[in-house]
Amino acid sequence: MAPKSRASLGGATLLEPELTAAAFSPAFTLMYAALAIVIGLAGAGIGWMVRGRWRASRHARQRAVANATDALTGLMVREAFEAALADALDTERGASRVGALLYAGLDGFRLVNEGHGHAHGDKVLAAVARQLREVCGARVPMCRMAGDEFALWLNADVETCELLARRVAEALSGGVALDGQRYAAGISVGVALFPKHGGSAQLIARAAAAMRSVKRAGGGSHALFDPRIETEQREELRIAQDLRQAIARKELELVYQPKIDASSLQVTAVEALLRWKHPALGMVSPARFIPIAEKHGLIESIGNWVLAAALHQAAAWRKAGLRMRVAINVSGYQMRQDDFARRLEAGLRSHRLQPNRFTCEITESVAMEDTQVTRRAFARLGKIGVHVSIDDFGIGHSSLATLRRLPAQELKIDRAFIVDMVHDADARAIVEAVLTMARTLGLRVVAEGVETPAQRDALVQLGCDELQGYLFAKPMSARAIALWAMDAPTSLAQSFRPSLFKETIMTGAPTEILKR
Ligand code: C2E
Ligand code: CA
Ligand code: CA
Repeated sequence: MAPKSRASLGGATLLEPELTAAAFSPAFTLMYAALAIVIGLAGAGIGWMVRGRWRASRHARQRAVANATDALTGLMVREAFEAALADALDTERGASRVGALLYAGLDGFRLVNEGHGHAHGDKVLAAVARQLREVCGARVPMCRMAGDEFALWLNADVETCELLARRVAEALSGGVALDGQRYAAGISVGVALFPKHGGSAQLIARAAAAMRSVKRAGGGSHALFDPRIETEQREELRIAQDLRQAIARKELELVYQPKIDASSLQVTAVEALLRWKHPALGMVSPARFIPIAEKHGLIESIGNWVLAAALHQAAAWRKAGLRMRVAINVSGYQMRQDDFARRLEAGLRSHRLQPNRFTCEITESVAMEDTQVTRRAFARLGKIGVHVSIDDFGIGHSSLATLRRLPAQELKIDRAFIVDMVHDADARAIVEAVLTMARTLGLRVVAEGVETPAQRDALVQLGCDELQGYLFAKPMSARAIALWAMDAPTSLAQSFRPSLFKETIMTGAPTEILKR
């Protein structure tokens, strides 16, 4: 009896011999078969229901994605666009299609946000979307990919696609109209062709890469994808990766180029210029790696390194009696960095350097941004009392009103005008105009890139204050600057050339300078 009572307790006892035999009797077999059919049918029913529900919810999800529009612009959202594109191109139906993916990104949208606030930035994005619709027509599938980037698919031959890309860039070159005003919103457009440049995912990536190449070249235009862009991207990535290690591996170095007083020909200042000795690539130009450092979030640590190294060197020279001003180049990213001014101030204090003997060179394009962020940064520099120099002056668009407000003491005329001024009347006229304006505003003018005596003479004649360029000295190491201050390394004590260095008072033996 015990096994029976145990069997009734539950399935665990079903393997009891008597019960197992009973279980295989014909009556039980029939009962089990019926039960199995009922359970099977129920299971199938539940499965069918679950599958049906799952399918329905998947379709609902797909429908939701396909219909999802971006609240700001009313365009498709990225997921919907990508799904539709994959569906159209990656199936057999896509085989007969030709067309292009256009990837458009606004130029300098950050300035709109920083200058007028994010709510206004949103309005500009909506206006840009309306303008894109107007140019491309209502039927072209179009989406906002992210932030200030848009993508659209055009089912047409190469010529038509390129024409449309050009029209988009041109239409936005004059900015967008908003609340009765026009706001600058140039656009860069990258184009990838189907099927030549790949399937849907590759098209988007390649059109975006082409768009970035347009931005690098200054923006406001369009470009077709070229495989060389990917090679460049890979190289850039390698440089960014290696640059990450450069400080720890002690591969960075500062060289210094003198600025010369145009009337006395004495050294008034030296500009610190960054050098990177890459173990395999050799000397990499800052013109190449600084923009990469900015893009990959490395400029902060590099800029901090430059600041610390230049302050250290300035203090060493000061101690040795070389009293020239020391200048560093400050990138726009550093200007936007909250603690740059604080670091600068603390560094000057700890090295006991007079702030007005230290110069920050800031490019005209950054200086003219005139956003809340740059205004605040300039105000901080003004408060610290450092010398501010507007670099590469003349190539950007300067506003006199902004220039007047800046706490700047110096303008550096870009090399391009100096190269041309001897044989080009326009370039000479610009140099003259800059000098006149600078005098009115009480700014000193430095001409950079002076290479020939003819350029020097013309600049001196026009009343330029300071000169800098290969004619006088190339950028050199701190040690070479010290040697340059001495005439010859043989009789150091007698050969020091105070005539070369303005306000120089030798403290201690000249050999001390060379040791540093
Ligand atoms: P920049 O500030 O306009 O510096 C002047 C550039 O012209 C330097 O190039 C200098 O070596 C070069 N140069 C000077 N005199 C002459 C001349 O007579 N003829 C010619 N052909 N060139 C001359 P470099 O050192 O290659 O620097 C290029 C740019 O990289 C700099 O332009 C500056 O914008 C940036 N840079 C350099 N160091 C730093 C740095 O520490 N931080 C930042 N943010 N940027 C830096
Ligand atoms: Ca400079
Ligand atoms: Ca410059």
